[in-house]
Amino acid sequence: MDKKPNNKSSDEFNTSSKIYIDFKKKLQKYLNPYQIKKIEKAFNTARIAHKGQLRKSGEEYIHHPLSAASILADFHLDHESIMAAILHDVIEDTEIEKDNLKNTFGVKVAELVDGVSKLDKLSFSTKEEADAANLRKMIMAMSQDIRVILIKLADRRHNLETISSLNFKQRKKIGRETLEIFAPIALRLGIHSLNKELEDLAFETVYPLRFKTLQNEIKKSRGNRHELMGKIRKVIEVKLKNEGLDIEVIAREKHVYGLYKKMKLKEVNFSHINDVFGVRIIVTSTDDCYRSLGIIHNLYTPVPGRFKDYIAIPKSNGYQSLHTSIVGPHGLPIEMQIRTKDMNILAESGIASHWFYKSKGTPSLENYTKEQQWITNLLSIQRDSGNPKEYLESIKADLHPGKVYVFTPKGNILELPKRSTIIDYAYAVHTDVGNNYAFAEVDGLPVSANTILKNGQRVEINTKKNLRPDPGWLSFVVTEKARHSIRASLKLIKRNDAIELGKKLLESSFNDFGIKLSEIPEKTLKIVLEEYSCHIIEDLYAEIGLGNRIAKLVAMRISPADMVSKNIGPSSGVQIRGTEGLVISYAKCCFPIPGDSIIGYISQEKGIVVHRQVCRSIKRTKKTQETTLDLLWDENIDDSFNACIKVEVENVRGVLALISSQIAQNDCNIESVTYDDTKETGHNIMVFIVSVMDIKILTKLVNKLKKNEHVLNVERKKS
Ligand code: MN
Repeated sequence: MDKKPNNKSSDEFNTSSKIYIDFKKKLQKYLNPYQIKKIEKAFNTARIAHKGQLRKSGEEYIHHPLSAASILADFHLDHESIMAAILHDVIEDTEIEKDNLKNTFGVKVAELVDGVSKLDKLSFSTKEEADAANLRKMIMAMSQDIRVILIKLADRRHNLETISSLNFKQRKKIGRETLEIFAPIALRLGIHSLNKELEDLAFETVYPLRFKTLQNEIKKSRGNRHELMGKIRKVIEVKLKNEGLDIEVIAREKHVYGLYKKMKLKEVNFSHINDVFGVRIIVTSTDDCYRSLGIIHNLYTPVPGRFKDYIAIPKSNGYQSLHTSIVGPHGLPIEMQIRTKDMNILAESGIASHWFYKSKGTPSLENYTKEQQWITNLLSIQRDSGNPKEYLESIKADLHPGKVYVFTPKGNILELPKRSTIIDYAYAVHTDVGNNYAFAEVDGLPVSANTILKNGQRVEINTKKNLRPDPGWLSFVVTEKARHSIRASLKLIKRNDAIELGKKLLESSFNDFGIKLSEIPEKTLKIVLEEYSCHIIEDLYAEIGLGNRIAKLVAMRISPADMVSKNIGPSSGVQIRGTEGLVISYAKCCFPIPGDSIIGYISQEKGIVVHRQVCRSIKRTKKTQETTLDLLWDENIDDSFNACIKVEVENVRGVLALISSQIAQNDCNIESVTYDDTKETGHNIMVFIVSVMDIKILTKLVNKLKKNEHVLNVERKKS
């Protein structure tokens, strides 16, 4: 919280102040002298670091971290957490850095403090409940160690206690945040005592009037019921003790915010809430829980439908207890909770009870009937592995299986499946953002499209008009939306490419007959389209472009016979640019590149496959007009193509490196190389796939290689 430098040199805080003495007493109950010494050292470091800083309330700053640590000492948290709580603001607010902490107090304390500082940097501008829910999950996901969250909760708890010194706006913000984010986290972790305290303090902060009114109502009601409740307690106590049960009966009262929530939920006023007051019975064993229940149901009439067995079926946060309501004197229903001591500790402290048990040296949780329940599992994982990371991973997995939370540039939170990439994010923002993706930045630094997102990152996508999705993205995206959108977009692009190419092919075929496509009568065209079951001419172009129909045959079918025979012109060939990637492919036998004489082979599955005219395999396939077509390279091609060359060399050391560098020096990229020992000759044959712009560059390279003294032969692969 805010602090201002103090001009007066003051060192008023000393270790004889009450808060410090209380704190030490708490520590002595469960920590050894060595651990307490370490905590004292941390305290001195924090005190000196914060020296001169005052809280808005006028107190020395050190009061705040000390109070937070004291709250955690109530839960018997380990000495590292207590040290980190005392030091929790030093990285943010003083000269001390993480490395200093690491050297002085060890890596664990340093990481805890660092973790708390990172949480403080999150911006909590929640607008909707959905945002708050995601933010809660993100806080959980960002914390490497559950203790970071416990420290944060204690920090918040003390800040609320001293909130009156802040202005109205600040108070409201902190109060809301607590109700929406921190109190629910405490509840999810099963720390009911902290949850109730946070809720009441925050409720009072945000709605001071409502809080006061309700508090007064409870007070009044308490007075009225005092005698009645006392009587019931007495009766139950005597009866159970007479049955030989070792029990403790506690009168309980609902916390103010709990009542408020209930009134809001049920849309009733205070007088209609019956369970403001209740009775809790603490027994020694699970058996005694059920025995006590039987005795009480014998004593008073139970309210039908109100019995709940959370012992047999614990709540998801591990809570165990029997709940029932009985009809008391004057027909008033009274709520009863029956549970063991262990269950009570767990109900109050949740996850934090783990440290409580540990400090008592009694890790036994034998009263748990449902060991599979997650909290029990977690406790045992923690006990067995002693690894807080693993511990938290399990909680995370339970809270939000397989999710990652990242910020948009505007600070909104996006939830994505785990292992989501930049491209998944882009499509999650908008289909157009994905389709027009140009480049991305994460936390201000450029990253590649397949980068996997991590919790808490800020992701920005930059788009450019007329860009196309890369089919390669399909190999790494994980979201259905991205996959679907990429496929849909590629399909559309493929169709557009196919239409363009099909039109060219058909025009070229008509050209061979000396006819122009525009000269064909509409009527003729319509009949033919129907015959091919195409709706519009574009459908027919696409069919041709995709290789499903042969342009020449279609042209022959469409052309009126009298027009054909008259003027047959020279065959000109169809121009290709190399960018029709989705409808045209390049043969892997002969590797055609611009400058080569080429020929197209029409395949039903692959569309048009481009071969070199010298290719042996295309020569072997029957050369008919139906399956092949003449192709030409466009004059302006700005792209690279793969070519294959065989280089026969002497078997000398380092020859591969030598050839490789020579290839690179000649504006060619090596895509792959295979290496062959030919034992008979003692020569080696290396087969390179190189990417080149055109035949000129390749020829230059081949000539250069031939001049190399170790090279015996260079040959371009023909098939
Ligand atoms: Mn703080």
